[in-house]
Amino acid sequence: MTGWSQALRAPSMAASDTPTFTGNRGLQVEEKLIFEQDAPGRCGVDLPEPPPHNNRLGGLARCSPIGLPGLSEPQVVRHFTRLSQKNYAIDSGLYPLGSCTMKHNPRLNERLARLAGFADIHPLQPESTVQGALELIDTLAHWLKVLTGMPAVALSPAAGAHGELCGMMTIRAALSAQGDARTRILVPESAHGTNPATAASCGYAIDAIPNNARGRVDLAALKAKLGGDVAALMLTNPNTCGLFEDEIVEIAAAVHAAGAYFYCDGANFNAIVGRVRPADLGIDALHLNLHKTFSTPHGGGGPGSGPVALAAALAPFAPLPWIVHGDAGWRLVEHAEGAAAAAIGRLKGFHGQMGMFVRALAYMMSHGADGLRQVAEDAVLNANYLRVRLADALTQSYPGACMHEVLFDDRFLKDTGVATLDFAKALIDEGFHPMTMYFPLVVHGAVLIEPTETESKASLDQFADTVNALAARATAGDAASFHAAPRLTPRRRLDETGAARKPVLRWRPNAVQRDAAD
Ligand SMILES: *Cc1c(COP(=O)(O)O)cnc(C)c1O
Repeated sequence: MTGWSQALRAPSMAASDTPTFTGNRGLQVEEKLIFEQDAPGRCGVDLPEPPPHNNRLGGLARCSPIGLPGLSEPQVVRHFTRLSQKNYAIDSGLYPLGSCTMKHNPRLNERLARLAGFADIHPLQPESTVQGALELIDTLAHWLKVLTGMPAVALSPAAGAHGELCGMMTIRAALSAQGDARTRILVPESAHGTNPATAASCGYAIDAIPNNARGRVDLAALKAKLGGDVAALMLTNPNTCGLFEDEIVEIAAAVHAAGAYFYCDGANFNAIVGRVRPADLGIDALHLNLHKTFSTPHGGGGPGSGPVALAAALAPFAPLPWIVHGDAGWRLVEHAEGAAAAAIGRLKGFHGQMGMFVRALAYMMSHGADGLRQVAEDAVLNANYLRVRLADALTQSYPGACMHEVLFDDRFLKDTGVATLDFAKALIDEGFHPMTMYFPLVVHGAVLIEPTETESKASLDQFADTVNALAARATAGDAASFHAAPRLTPRRRLDETGAARKPVLRWRPNAVQRDAAD
């Protein structure tokens, strides 16, 4: 972020087509970094001089200035208010990012998470003083067990990818307890990048399984790859093409017949929550993204939480701590001994993301079992509504109904000179966050749209009208306007590769941030 300072100081970057004196674009204000607004000696608070006192810091007292910018209170408030408005959020509009389930975060959840009994406790408090918090965690685990049909849930993983790590470490521990060290993990080509990354970080070799013509795992290819050295299959269901793996029961049977475990990436649970229990599909381990399916904020809005549901064969290896109920009430099992002797250890300091637990449980209990089922049904209905509304203008990758997200590719842009990226940038000018682009990798120029159940028909219609209008403009030969997009944002096209490869993470006074990407 600080790498932008040079551009901010030189309004020419953004002002080339901004005909205003200030360089501002209406409510979008060009402003200096907060450190550059420094006026030495200026201060937002006015405290009396402290009375004479004995300095007990000895040689540790600071002798140089502290280096904070001198700012007034209104300057600080305006700066951070403007900064917060530069971000696009689910609170500002439709956020159709496929695979990410950007749904509305009910304010009821926020209200409950802020209750002092949840927000002001500390994980090192004596257990007797946090009985309610421990009971809440256990109640959340209970809901997750009922929804998945699985007997155990590990709650500490801090995100989906962390949950994958937890699941795969658990599988590795179970296999090694059987004296059966296996070396290979099967991962479909359409998988999220975190799946092979997780398998690799657990020391496994990754073997890719191709998709069939229907966008599902090629069962024959899968069977051909199974063998005595395969530790697990990692499969996403519904998969990243937005399709239900309809041969999943047969897939599970084949995996189990080979002595391997079946890991399911449950990031897309929003499509099936309340309708399908993963245990009934033969799944042994599955992570759930509370920040996707159960509406806790994400994408810059808060930490994630990726609990892992485990089958009975894997439960003894679940990471610590475990929460158990005994004569003295709720208690944490923190050491790998007794019943927990086989636990894989800790994955995280303390017990997990408490604020997310409160929000997710509030979401579940306010919806109830029937409401959660309706979440899935409405999410699938909304995605299919968009699928049909966009069917004439865009090219759907796999025909037929989809689950909670719909996958198109760039065939509709063929010979227009417009790429998926240009199309997405034009959508920004229209006030929408773009859909997921270029993922999954199994189709060319992917356009993956997930509206979620929290969008109204009116908002879906406005989005569909916009996408259809843009597609018409692209096919009418107006490539130039797409190449120039976005025109109306504070910055135009950023050197994203440069920003990722050569990030400038620290602001230094008077330094020329020459290498910084805009
Ligand atoms: C989001 C997602 C993940 C990773 O989850 P994080 O919480 O972002 O770590 C894994 N797989 C799929 C299919 C996802 O959509």
